[in-house]
Amino acid sequence: MTLTSQNSDPEATASSYGLANPDIPIDDPASDSPTDTLLTSILDVSEDDLNYQVSQMGQPPFRARQLWRSLYHEGAQSFDEMTTLAKPFRATLEERYRISPIVPEVELRSADGSTDKILFKLQDGELIETVLMRYGLDGHRRARRTVCISTQAGCALGCTFCATGQQGFRRQLSQGEIVAQVLHMRRIIRSENAELIAAGSAKKDEVTEITNVVFMGMGEPLANYNNTLSSIAVMNHAQGMNIGARHLTVSTVGLVPEIRKLAREPYQLNLAVSLHAPDDESRSRTMPVNKRYPIARLMHACRDYVETTNRRIFFEYVLLDHENDTPEHAKKLADLLKGLMCHVNLIPVNPTEKGPYSRPNDKRSALFREILTKAGIPNTVRQEKGIDINAGCGQLRARALDDAVEAAE
Ligand code: SAH
Ligand code: SF4
Repeated sequence: MTLTSQNSDPEATASSYGLANPDIPIDDPASDSPTDTLLTSILDVSEDDLNYQVSQMGQPPFRARQLWRSLYHEGAQSFDEMTTLAKPFRATLEERYRISPIVPEVELRSADGSTDKILFKLQDGELIETVLMRYGLDGHRRARRTVCISTQAGCALGCTFCATGQQGFRRQLSQGEIVAQVLHMRRIIRSENAELIAAGSAKKDEVTEITNVVFMGMGEPLANYNNTLSSIAVMNHAQGMNIGARHLTVSTVGLVPEIRKLAREPYQLNLAVSLHAPDDESRSRTMPVNKRYPIARLMHACRDYVETTNRRIFFEYVLLDHENDTPEHAKKLADLLKGLMCHVNLIPVNPTEKGPYSRPNDKRSALFREILTKAGIPNTVRQEKGIDINAGCGQLRARALDDAVEAAE
């Protein structure tokens, strides 16, 4: 099983929890949570382990491949519907595993129908948010369906403008909990597409599936490095979800060692770095992480990243009225990024309940932008009107960055 991050007690075994059934794996990651009667999610089983488990069940290797396809390509919600697999095999799977480890608790849709936000409950009762954004054809840009996913319940990094940071850290999400968010949103999109096709409003090759995934929901993806990377492997797998790495964007608060590590991974991902201030004094005021990884170290890692991967970096810059949005800040930012292959995404803050921040007016953000543009730094600003379901979530920032990534490609 791959859920090691959740299994905080290495001594925990099936017998220590009084589990009599020898079929239940002794390293069942759910067994040290209060919900120890629940089965492990099969979405938490790595490809290698799945191959092994299936062979242990006396099945030939191609059965593991069929199972993988059912889970990730077809998106089966129950073993019962995997009719390519023999009934006794399905029954064994049913005894050992559940499929999804997340259950929708609250579902909201914006009035214009473009955006869904879902609050999911995890097996131990933790709550996370996921957002689905639908974009129609826009000039030369193709239609898109983007999912903004969470990688942790809460976040330990405490950025002062962020609703998740204000809640503190709860726990890491597992690979399956990360991937399940995308699978769930894909089901919504597939059923909408099926309706369009049935109504004759679109042909099969005209509908759009999930095209992009942005790691910009709750939590810091690079502080949950292994599960983030293994979820990327699943999303990217050609026989499964098959989402191209260029359509995946990981956003980080700026963890230097992990940025360096990511540069050596074999994926052509997009990396977004949350900069939000151009000097240590202002950055440390809103982002405690800056004391650990100050700007000079962060920028050194970013420059090395661009050199190693030959890919541009996206810098996120949340505009906080009278905090980080003066012309001096803009000039310093331009100097900091000079000569670097990058794109700056300016995001007027989405005010949170507990935060003291507000959005700068249009004139202030336009001036900030103009200074960057004159200095030759590519940038985008999105003055979104606040979607009606936005309350405390990250969909506005995700939308803005997703637009910028597309525009820069
Ligand atoms: N932890 C990662 C990814 C999740 S946050 C990170 O910090 O990058 C995704 C983005 O949303 C980050 O750039 C973050 O700074 C930004 N963000 C957080 N709170 C926001 C708010 N209230 N308004 C606008 N953007 C915000
Ligand atoms: Fe955590 Fe990102 Fe929010 Fe900062 S902005 S508290 S790193 S989720």
